[in-house]
Amino acid sequence: MQRWGLPDGWVISARPAHPALVSETDYITVQGIQTPRGAAVRPDRCHLLAGLLRCGICGRQLESCWANNRAAYRCRHGHTGASRSDPDRPKNLYVREDHILPHLPALHILLTGPSDIVPDGASPDPREVIDHLRTSKITLTYEPETRTLRTGTPKEVKVTIDQKR
Ligand SMILES: [Zn+2]
Repeated sequence: MQRWGLPDGWVISARPAHPALVSETDYITVQGIQTPRGAAVRPDRCHLLAGLLRCGICGRQLESCWANNRAAYRCRHGHTGASRSDPDRPKNLYVREDHILPHLPALHILLTGPSDIVPDGASPDPREVIDHLRTSKITLTYEPETRTLRTGTPKEVKVTIDQKR
C-alpha cells in the first residue's frame, strides 16, 4: 500500500487490478462451442493400429506411445531403461499414426486388388482397412530407412509413407 497526496482516507493500491475472472461454468461453455457436439472434450485417445505394426529392425511389435499429443508407435528394440551410449545400438524407431493412416486405402487396394474398390471411385476408410487387417491377421512391418510399410502376406505389398509432410 502506498499513500499519495490524496484526501484523508483515500488509498491507492500499488498492486495491479485482478484480470477479469471467467467462471468455470463459462469456461466449459466456451470449450463446448469449440469442440463439436460438446462431448469430445478429449482428443481421440486411442491407437487404431495397436498390435498391427512390427519393427523392421528387430521384428518386435511396436509399442503404442504419444508424441506431442499424437498417437505414435515406437520400438526400443528390446532395450529398456536408461540408454547407454552403445554405438551398435539401433536408434529407437518412431512412427506417427497420422503418417500411416492416409496410406492405408492404397495398401488395401494393393492387397485386395481393384475388384474390391468401393464403387464411385471412393477409397476405403482407413478404419475399414484396419478392420480388414485385423480380421485377416495381417501385420505391417515398418522399415525406418525407406519409410515403407510392408505386409507379411505371401504376396508382399509395400507402401511408402512420407513423414516430411
Ligand atoms: Zn525394433
